Amino acid sequence: MSGRLRRCPRDRTYTLQVSCPVCGHPTVPAHPARFSPTDNLGRYRRIARGWTI
Ligand SMILES: [Zn+2]
Repeated sequence: MSGRLRRCPRDRTYTLQVSCPVCGHPTVPAHPARFSPTDNLGRYRRIARGWTI
C-alpha cells in the first residue's frame, strides 16, 4: 500500500506520479531503503569512511 507513494526531493511534494506535478523533477519513493546489511556498495562506503562495522 505504501509502496507507490512518491515524493519530490526538490520541493517535498508527495505524489503518486514518477515526476513532480509542481516542478517536473523526477520523484523518489517516499520510503526508500535507508540501510541494508547486504548492501555491498554500502560496505565499501563504510570502509571508505573508516567505519570498522
Ligand atoms: Zn517538485
